[in-house]
Amino acid sequence: MPRFIDVHVHLNMLKTDPVEELERARLAGVDRVITIGTEPGDHELVLDYARRFFPQVACTLGIHPHEAELWNEGVNDWIRAQVQSTDLATSRGIVAVGEIGLDYYYNKSPGETQLHAFRRQMDLAEELKLPVEIHTRDAEDDTALILSEYTGRVTGLLHCFTSSLDLAKKALDYGFDISISGVATFKNAEALRDVVRFIPLDRLHVETDAPFLAPVPQRGKSNVPLFVVHTAELVATLKGVSMEELSRQTLANAKRLFPKLEL
Ligand SMILES: [Zn+2]
Ligand SMILES: [Zn+2]
Repeated sequence: MPRFIDVHVHLNMLKTDPVEELERARLAGVDRVITIGTEPGDHELVLDYARRFFPQVACTLGIHPHEAELWNEGVNDWIRAQVQSTDLATSRGIVAVGEIGLDYYYNKSPGETQLHAFRRQMDLAEELKLPVEIHTRDAEDDTALILSEYTGRVTGLLHCFTSSLDLAKKALDYGFDISISGVATFKNAEALRDVVRFIPLDRLHVETDAPFLAPVPQRGKSNVPLFVVHTAELVATLKGVSMEELSRQTLANAKRLFPKLEL
């Protein structure tokens, strides 16, 4: 059975029991997930999953652009302390800073606030030598600018990619990978499927972003890690490779990008 890692899920937000969903996923080959922090209120939750279930579950810590107003230097200090904790159960499972970035579609925090929180968390990632998981929506120019500022210093992925081919090309040039969610399976997503066709196989990841954005044929349901298989099937078809080959390549990509993962 081909194995997959869901590189972006919110276990603490699932509508069904996360522990049961982890087991369902594992039995179907999805035996690794990265659960994502978004704000101070969920950091202990995601850390707890990683403490209990590493290496099946790893986590990220960071402030989502929606919550950028909750970012302050104290948050960076707290994240640094967890990553540098002498308690191995705490420190080993934190594999990235995230999710961080820019969202000018919802604009839940002012643009300047988002930009500052994004840059300061990129600084933190550089300091801690961790990759980042980036959220970007309707913010292509500023995202490209910040990626360019950190090229060669920070690496990471653009999660749930829905932006243009132009931003994909720039991100790849600046050393960042791209992660594809169930959005690519949606009927109206032909432009995104063209982006998938373009991305080199060794720079590509798959994710669910569960509980959001369930892929076809599960669309409309609440998303769970198991459903990453549907996105993987689409990506394998678009890239003209077998599921076994996509499995091998995406696991290698994840190990390269997130060295702390144990796959
Ligand atoms: Zn996101
Ligand atoms: Zn997310």
